[in-house]
Amino acid sequence: MPRVYHKCHFCGGEVVEKKITVDYRWGEELIALIKNVPTGVCQICGEQYLKAEIVKEMERLVHSRETPKKLIQVPLRELAVA
Ligand SMILES: [Zn+2]
Repeated sequence: MPRVYHKCHFCGGEVVEKKITVDYRWGEELIALIKNVPTGVCQICGEQYLKAEIVKEMERLVHSRETPKKLIQVPLRELAVA
């Protein structure tokens, strides 16, 4: 059954499901990229909507002991403006 999305909360645009890559973060220095996440994307403003069951599955996945497909390096920089 296809997931149904409401119209965009911000602009009233049509929300269509796409498979996107989500950066899932938890804590200060932990981040996981999750590919292939079914996400509702507003056709006008690009706002993204995730279904609760998808968020749960992402949580399960990042905390699981399954070996990740790949480990990548992420640069950390600091902006020096006051
Ligand atoms: Zn929108």
